[in-house]
Order: sequence, then C-alpha cells, then structure tokens
Amino acid sequence: MNEEYRKVLELIKKSNSIYITAHIFPDGDAIGSIMALYLALKNMGKDVHAVVPKYSHKFEFLEELKYAEKGIAYGEYDLCICVDVSSLDRLEITEEEYMKAKSKIVIDHHLNSNIAADVLAIDSRAPATCEIIYEILEMSNISIDENIAKYLYMGILTDTGSFNYSNTTPKTHRIVARLIETGIDFAYICKMVNDTMKEGKLKLIAYAINNIETYNDGKIKYVKMPYSIIKELGIDEEDSEGIVNYLRCIEGVDIAICARQLEDKSYKVSMRSNGNVDISKAAISLGGGGHRNAAGFTVKGEIDNVKNEIIEVVGVNL
Ligand code: 5GP
Ligand code: MN
Repeated sequence: MNEEYRKVLELIKKSNSIYITAHIFPDGDAIGSIMALYLALKNMGKDVHAVVPKYSHKFEFLEELKYAEKGIAYGEYDLCICVDVSSLDRLEITEEEYMKAKSKIVIDHHLNSNIAADVLAIDSRAPATCEIIYEILEMSNISIDENIAKYLYMGILTDTGSFNYSNTTPKTHRIVARLIETGIDFAYICKMVNDTMKEGKLKLIAYAINNIETYNDGKIKYVKMPYSIIKELGIDEEDSEGIVNYLRCIEGVDIAICARQLEDKSYKVSMRSNGNVDISKAAISLGGGGHRNAAGFTVKGEIDNVKNEIIEVVGVNL
C-alpha cells in the first residue's frame, strides 16, 4: 500500500491544476477528506479546487468550507482526486467530466471500490478515508497543521462512530492522538457534528421511533420516513440522515434499516448491522454498496413495492 501512497504524492507533485471531490450527500469523512487534502495541496502552492457536493447545514461551522466550489469551473485539469467514493454514479460530476482530467487518483476505503484511475489508494480495512489521507500526508513533507488536522479528525470521528465501531484500531487512536496534539478543539468538533441538531430533527427522530416495523423475530427493524413528514417538520432532506442508528440500539437487533424519502421522491436506504452481521453484500445486490456494518442503496420508486424483497435479501445474513 505504501507504494500506492507514494504514487499519489508523485502524481500530485507533477500536477498543477487539481480538483478534489467526493460522493453526493457527503458525510464527515467525505468532507473531511476533500478539505484536508485541499488545504494540504494549497499549502504546496497548487491550483487546487475543493468540489464539495451539496452538504448538510450541520457542517456549516467549518469555516474553510467557504472555499468549496459546487462544480468544476473549467474542463481541463491536470488531476482529479476522488476521495471516499467507490463508484462513478455516486459522483456529482459526470463520467465525461471525470474522464477529462489528464490524470486521476482514487483514495477510498469502501469494499467495492470500482472507479478506474491512474493511482488507486484503496484500503478497505481503513476505518475512514481520512485515515488513509493522514498516512499519505505523513509520508510527504507537507506538515499536518491544526486546520488540516481538524478535518482529518472529523472524518475519522464520524466513520468510526466516535471510535465505537470495531473498525477502530490502535493505529486509529495513535493517529487521532497526533491530530489532537496539533491543538484542535476536538470537543467543539464532536459537539457540532454529533450533538447539535434542529428541533425539527429531534421530532423526526420521535416520528421514526414511533413508526418502527419489526421483522425476523426482532432481528430486523425497519422504518420509512416520507418526505411529507420531513417537510412538515420544517427541516431538509439531509436532516433525516443518521436516524438509522437509533434503530440499531434496540436490544436483539442485528440489522436496522431506515428508508428516508428525498425531495425527488426517491428513497435513500441506510442500513446498519451489529457485530459480525455483514450487510455490504445485500446492499450491493440491491444496487448500492458500503461496508460490513454500514451500507446503503437508493430506491427510485415507491419503497412499499420492494420492501418485502429488501427484508428478504437482507435477512439472508441472519
Ligand atoms: P449512509 O447510510 O450513512 O448513507 O451510508 C452508509 C455507507 O453505505 C456509506 O459508507 C456509503 O458510502 C454507503 N452507501 C450508502 N448508500 C450507498 C449507495 O447508494 N451506493 C453505494 N455504492 N454505497 C452507498
Ligand atoms: Mn468514509
């Protein structure tokens, strides 16, 4: 893997105009990965652009996001770096736009990473793409300052479930210790990312808790959140994210499934599993992807028509 990381640095050194992007509905790891790399490359003097897909307002406390761009400004870039994304259809830019970059790098930690690029820095054992980026930066002579550390910390924090998930390793803790040593206000980041929400979101959590369905003798919990409810509560589609974790907390649950309807009427299905139950393959067979304990997919039409199929496919793992 070190060889690939070295190649990432070589290709960055050779390139001048660079853009970095990640998956749509970017989470803490996607935003953290884009911004940490963006700040590092800016410090190297590169003409670098952070292309951040539409993100939740909960990330607005991050000052440097003011530099984020919505799309790519001009056609020809020397290098495109895709971070925390496993397939082209989860990018906001089109395949055609992606192909226009002279060189391409993918830095990712998903199991089914399948984007073609000149350099693939992919480690599915890494708990967060931000951990891979830390290792790449550490191999270079770019120093990880407080600003960069703040984003790397956020990515590792969110993708390890605040260091609760089994993907967290001793190495993760050592990296996080070094990030904290740069002087970041980690308690503030935790508070803003994990512990701050609109009142409407709390009410949506209440709705979800009141509408849980139970399958497979309590091993599967499922909830559907229609967009009409989300709208009624005065919140946005991205506020419905993360609620699946409450279902996973219930005693006896192996798999939690939350189908949240988006403004375009499609359903974004989030799945979480406990312990050794692997839901990544079920997610892939349902047209999505992810990791062993956190995966998802999208349903274009009315979810009620395919709910039974979903429960069946997912239940095979139990
Ligand atoms: P979340 O439920 O938080 O949206 O996603 C959990 C994990 O599953 C993330 O790592 C995410 O990358 C992956 N995932 C969620 N939805 C999709 C999807 O539609 N396609 C793919 N390939 N992965 C997804
Ligand atoms: Mn990630």
